[in-house]
Amino acid sequence: MTNPDAIVVGGGIGGLSAAFALSREGLTVRLLERQAEFGEVGAGMQLAPNCTRILDEYGLLDEVKSLGVLPDDMLMFDGVGTDRAGEEITRLDLRDLEKRYGYPYLVIHRTDLHATFLRACQRAGVELVNGAKAVDYTSTADSATVTLEDGIQHTAPVVIAAEGIHSPARAKFVGDAPVSSSYVAYRGVIPIGDARANNIHEKAVVLYLGNNCHFVQYGLRGGEMFNQVAVFESPKALAGQEDWGTPDELDAAFADTVGDVRDGLKFMWRDRWWRMYDRESIPNWIFGRVALLGDSAHAPLQYLAQGAIMAIEDGWALAKHVTRNRSGSGEIDWDPALAAYSAVRTQHTARVLATSREWGNLWHLAGEKREQRNAILKARDVYDYSFVDWLYGPTALFPEDEAEMFTPIPLDSVKVNAA
Ligand SMILES: Cc1cc2nc3c(=O)[nH]c(=O)nc-3n(C[C@H](O)[C@H](O)[C@H](O)COP(=O)(O)OP(=O)(O)OC[C@H]3O[C@@H](n4cnc5c(N)ncnc54)[C@H](O)[C@@H]3O)c2cc1C
Repeated sequence: MTNPDAIVVGGGIGGLSAAFALSREGLTVRLLERQAEFGEVGAGMQLAPNCTRILDEYGLLDEVKSLGVLPDDMLMFDGVGTDRAGEEITRLDLRDLEKRYGYPYLVIHRTDLHATFLRACQRAGVELVNGAKAVDYTSTADSATVTLEDGIQHTAPVVIAAEGIHSPARAKFVGDAPVSSSYVAYRGVIPIGDARANNIHEKAVVLYLGNNCHFVQYGLRGGEMFNQVAVFESPKALAGQEDWGTPDELDAAFADTVGDVRDGLKFMWRDRWWRMYDRESIPNWIFGRVALLGDSAHAPLQYLAQGAIMAIEDGWALAKHVTRNRSGSGEIDWDPALAAYSAVRTQHTARVLATSREWGNLWHLAGEKREQRNAILKARDVYDYSFVDWLYGPTALFPEDEAEMFTPIPLDSVKVNAA
């Protein structure tokens, strides 16, 4: 087996998309995945224009559009109360948003996006190795080696560690642990025919905000399927109990929500749930010739729906810096390429991680603060994009571009609708 130009560890959306991005630049890439087969959770995800722009550059956007749904709106409701429907507090017009950013906002089954990248890697000739669990990483001045559980070692000029939030590379080089939010997510995907028994908005991404909880709904697979996510703060987690996030807590958390939410809860999967952890930001992802990418570098709380998108952006930015640091003979100067990748991506993802936590706090407000939040968001002009320009605009390649694109807007200065 000859050494490839790059090794990617982890065959999630981050690892596959990075392997594809590097192979597009002409590199030979080997991808090592611990599972015997590639796969993803069978639930939905949202892809904003900062991702669909990259998918278009990769020639994958039409395929992804054909597999997903392009909703018309994103609707935010106050979901607390005894009424049937919640009160709308703000919305994004996703058709107008597409005009602003030049690329669509779409929702897709995670397995469909994952399979799209897997097929793209196969077409591009990425060497895909399953049953390859990484347990250790070492680096020299000009190469890195990953050691697998069975003792086999793989060496290349660079190793990209994209093994998710519980990354062994992060454990070795940084040594920190994921941070628990005490929130837990339940998911459920059902045929649209079953969902129509309830009052649903088929052409929208819908978000209901509750007291320390929220509920998300949108269509999948050309509108044939319906995706729901219920997220709540676990009292058992706050009390320090091991067994937290159980279905009895789900029902209790949503007891004071509107009828449309409680109807939807009946369709959640109750045999599994996802405890919500994120990572603290770190200023450097490069350890010799080992580079972190995706959730191993920057697992966020999911409130901005940017986790997988950031992983896809990482691979795109890394590949661009590889091209910029390549000599006429094709030799890659990896050290400046990796340094530039880490500099721009740590800056952006730190903002996303911090804002995701704040955005979650805003969603989950209770009592008087909830009323104040609603009043501010109701006053927001539907076509005011100042909150999302820094996220949905083009992905920066250099830290100075990133800084320019970031215009933090305090909530109390939101542009108010003249009407
Ligand atoms: C409820 C919820 C909703 C979300 N919604 C969105 C959304 O709408 N939009 C969005 O962009 N993001 C969303 N996210 C975040 C997104 O799911 C993650 O950020 C993204 O999947 C991370 O991809 P990754 O490839 O970095 O890691 P992972 O998906 O965790 O992939 C890691 C891969 O590495 C493999 N692996 C692990 N350890 C090893 C090892 N030792 N050796 C070899 N292989 C290994 C794993 O088997 C896996 O295949 C959401 C997350 C949650 C929990």
